[in-house]
Amino acid sequence: MEYTNATGHIYDIQGYAVHDGPGIRTTVYTKGCPLRCLWCHSPESQRHEFELGCLPIKCLGTDVCEDACINACPVGAITKKAPERALGRDDMIQKVAIDREKCTGCLKCTEVCLPKSLYAAGWDTTVDEVFARVIKDRGFFQNGGGITISGGEAMAQFDFTFNLAKKLKDSGIHICLDTTGFAPEELFGRILPYIDLFLYDIKHMDSQMHKNLTGVGNELILSNARFLAERGGALQIRVPVIPKLTDKQSNLLATAEFCASLGDAVKLVQLLPYHKTGRMKYERIGWTYKLTNVEPPDDEFMQKTLELFQGAGLNCQLY
Ligand code: SF4
Ligand code: SF4
Repeated sequence: MEYTNATGHIYDIQGYAVHDGPGIRTTVYTKGCPLRCLWCHSPESQRHEFELGCLPIKCLGTDVCEDACINACPVGAITKKAPERALGRDDMIQKVAIDREKCTGCLKCTEVCLPKSLYAAGWDTTVDEVFARVIKDRGFFQNGGGITISGGEAMAQFDFTFNLAKKLKDSGIHICLDTTGFAPEELFGRILPYIDLFLYDIKHMDSQMHKNLTGVGNELILSNARFLAERGGALQIRVPVIPKLTDKQSNLLATAEFCASLGDAVKLVQLLPYHKTGRMKYERIGWTYKLTNVEPPDDEFMQKTLELFQGAGLNCQLY
């Protein structure tokens, strides 16, 4: 059978993933998303373009590299920082600073930075390349495991995601699609036969609040969930629990009622307590993290929320 050699933008492939669907999985992370969730823990996934990432700990210092990155930058966006002691040594080195206002994202500096202190967050690839990479993990797909196509929003690169899912399905691999649900219904209809389980976020039941928190209303997301449920799709719904933003009882109750209304299509609801682990990623690509005043919910609140969802007749667990 022939497949188009569709190209995609991705930013990571991770093996041994145990939180992206059942069993042990390999997850392909696509780049580009129509939502801008305030709590997003993968900011590098949001834009379709590749960002310049910076990991200062890997920088060898400009003397060692003979100013390679500084000379490579066509707009003078890279400068030397004040001298500092090299990690584990006695000598002093000068690492570099990026002026994000000047940076045009050309990524020329990443081509000369050998230790990858400066790196491109993402790369172009094809369905065939990703397939060749992930199929090597097949022996580890135990306990119902397989491949998860995640993002970003994988449906935003439909040709790539569709052809990858099709190719994997024809190879007998279990496929999860991790989606925001924000894509045309027609595309969900086309990909449905190739997806074993949709990992599907319900972020807020009030559309205006949803827009405030993510940049888009929730109408399309809710109607697509219903569309998939009515056509035999299997859903694992994920609900972020974020103090002051999504944790009102009225919202949690409405979310539980909506999930229950989808009937047997909902195999599991996972409650995702807010955490701060994505904050460092914002610094690496020069962005500002906005939820600095939000703390994770406590265990007692999460337990009560779990009971609320279980009380609606749902198979529910804490993430
Ligand atoms: S950023 Fe890379 S090329 Fe520039 S000084 Fe540091 S290690 Fe060398
Ligand atoms: S990505 Fe930015 S810092 Fe790097 S060379 Fe291009 S303009 Fe300069």
